[in-house]
Amino acid sequence: ANLRELLLSRIRDVPDYPKPGVVFKDITPLLADPVAFNALVDALAEMCARHGATKVVGLEARGFILAAPAAARAGLGFVPVRKAGKLPGPTLTQSYELEYGTAQIEVHADAMTDGDRVLVIDDVLATGGTAEASLELVRRCGATVAGVAVMLELGFLGGRQRLAPSLGGAPLEAL
Ligand code: IMP
Repeated sequence: ANLRELLLSRIRDVPDYPKPGVVFKDITPLLADPVAFNALVDALAEMCARHGATKVVGLEARGFILAAPAAARAGLGFVPVRKAGKLPGPTLTQSYELEYGTAQIEVHADAMTDGDRVLVIDDVLATGGTAEASLELVRRCGATVAGVAVMLELGFLGGRQRLAPSLGGAPLEAL
């Protein structure tokens, strides 16, 4: 409960960003606070251990900031899932629906294998489209989904419901 209060106190609401009517949750004050940032990384690393992860996926770009230190602290490897066209090696690509149009994310095809249990980490779960597409990439690599961990879940957008089929019973945890 203390962690929750600490994290919430360091997230800033930015009205009308990126467009009118949207309230953006800005985590940069949290990242700038070493006590809060360290507590967040600790909690994510603990989740890696609790869910028996063997690898940690981070979603570009803010997911990288949280997933990479959590993976290192948990003693696990970090795998970047990137926007299309950024990874140099052979990749798997997954498309997903945005409000207007579609987007693509990619992962190196050899980054995860059938022996892996993968925890996906991002900063904010909104509609769940990004996380859903990343779980599809985990599965297409042949790996097992250990779960999804986010700092903040915007519950009113229904991401948890959207993710349920792709999670296949694996946990979605929001700090
Ligand atoms: P979704 O695909 O709709 O769940 O959107 C989630 C993605 O958008 C994540 O990668 C987040 O980093 C980003 N995102 C959406 N809303 C916010 C917000 O209010 N603050 C920070 N990131 C957000």
